[in-house]
Amino acid sequence: MTNKNTGWNFDNSYTRLPNSFFTPVNPTAVSSPKLVISNDSLATSLGLNVDSLKSQYGVTELGGNQIPEGASPIAQAYAGHQFGNFTMLGDGRAVLLGEQITPSGERFDIQLKGSGPTPYSRRGDGRAALGPMLREYIISEAMHALGIPTTRSLAVVTTGEPVYRETALPGAILTRVAASHLRFGTFQFTANFGTIEELKILADYAIDRHYPDIKADDQRYLSLLQGVIKRHAALIAKWQLVGFIHGVMNTDNMTISGETIDYGPCAFMDDYDPATVFSSIDHQGRYAYGNQPYIGGWNLARFAECLIPLLHDDQEQALKLAQEAISEFNQLYHANWFAGMRAKLGIFNEEKEDESLIEDLLKMMQEYSADYTNTFRALTFDKREDFALFNSTEFAQWEKLWLARLDKQKEAKEASQQLMKNSNPAVIPRNHRVEEALDAAVNGDYSVMEQLLDVLSNPYAHSNKQADYRTMPLHSDGSYQTFCGT
Ligand code: AMP
Ligand code: MG
Repeated sequence: MTNKNTGWNFDNSYTRLPNSFFTPVNPTAVSSPKLVISNDSLATSLGLNVDSLKSQYGVTELGGNQIPEGASPIAQAYAGHQFGNFTMLGDGRAVLLGEQITPSGERFDIQLKGSGPTPYSRRGDGRAALGPMLREYIISEAMHALGIPTTRSLAVVTTGEPVYRETALPGAILTRVAASHLRFGTFQFTANFGTIEELKILADYAIDRHYPDIKADDQRYLSLLQGVIKRHAALIAKWQLVGFIHGVMNTDNMTISGETIDYGPCAFMDDYDPATVFSSIDHQGRYAYGNQPYIGGWNLARFAECLIPLLHDDQEQALKLAQEAISEFNQLYHANWFAGMRAKLGIFNEEKEDESLIEDLLKMMQEYSADYTNTFRALTFDKREDFALFNSTEFAQWEKLWLARLDKQKEAKEASQQLMKNSNPAVIPRNHRVEEALDAAVNGDYSVMEQLLDVLSNPYAHSNKQADYRTMPLHSDGSYQTFCGT
């Protein structure tokens, strides 16, 4: 095998869709691409040759200086509701190289993010800074390890060129791997600016790629809507259960596949508070932790609107079908969340009192500003660390009820604890740890980030080496802010 055989095995099904869906565009070459982090296990599962990928030649591919064999680079068109306002968008700083067919026959989009301007760039430079690309790498891989559907990160290269934001920052390109980059916004683009025929082509394409089981359904477009609703109900419940705040739940950042995408201003909550917001631009708290399920429903309604012409010949009937499907979301979300919360408390079956048991705990956590992750961990290991919550009489009363509830189920205490260990991560990417790793990396020291990635790669291990990563910053003033990462 020569050094130049990176192992790409591209098919480019998206380029066979109508021309209006995308624009062919090559990445813009950069002066000196340098690999700073790569994901060897992901590369291997994609069927790539790790050594070649990391070689000088492979790095020219990851930097966009060399188009990989079989790739057919495009920027995808899409639209979307940004903070509630509808607008035309598209890949403004990314190109899709193609779809990698893995040795096991799976299909993944390979996208370079930060690869230069495209016809959809508007006023942007098409580039990305190193810090935000590393941030996406860390958090997306942490999400994957937490068992949450997500796009993945294959590599980050620096470009050798500065990008100008408030100051000059080192430029970088992230290679993103996704089940696809079909977004609610892709449907909004076609429904608003395309023909019904094109909408059908897009819907059939989405079904082929992500919901092949419904292909033969009588009402396959309704099944598509129901499938997307179901996956988002499960996804957002998973976010809530680990305290993940996406931060920019615009409809262009919601995937048809049900993967988490677009790690800009996202962050994990420390103290439990539904009003938690980190994003510097989210002044109204539209995308606050506690709002995520409602916004999920709102976004799905925008997706449903796009499908109306395909649901029924009679517009009123179509609307009724869409509304019925959307009305299922709340209940589906709640069922996912409730099951996950019971598991976090070691409860196997479902009883009437569980709902109030959970609500009461969350209420106390909010009242006592208890750390979300560490509270569940303390309950898992029966270690009541020195939290104000655990010293309260309310908690003592609640604990009695909880222990009585556990006693009532047939499963042994050990099984219950195992369920809790599997449902309550020991570590999450704590904001101060992420910032510390990024600071060091941007200054040339990648060891802090590598250690962090290692600890985050197995969040349910509850190992000793994770201990240091569980603590809150010493002087947390609750004013942590995140940025959109352009
Ligand atoms: P996001 O907030 O990351 O979801 O991006 C919203 C839109 O802005 C998308 O169409 C992006 O492609 C575009 N965009 C973000 N950053 C840049 C940039 N530096 N240059 C050009 N377009 C950008
Ligand atoms: Mg986006």
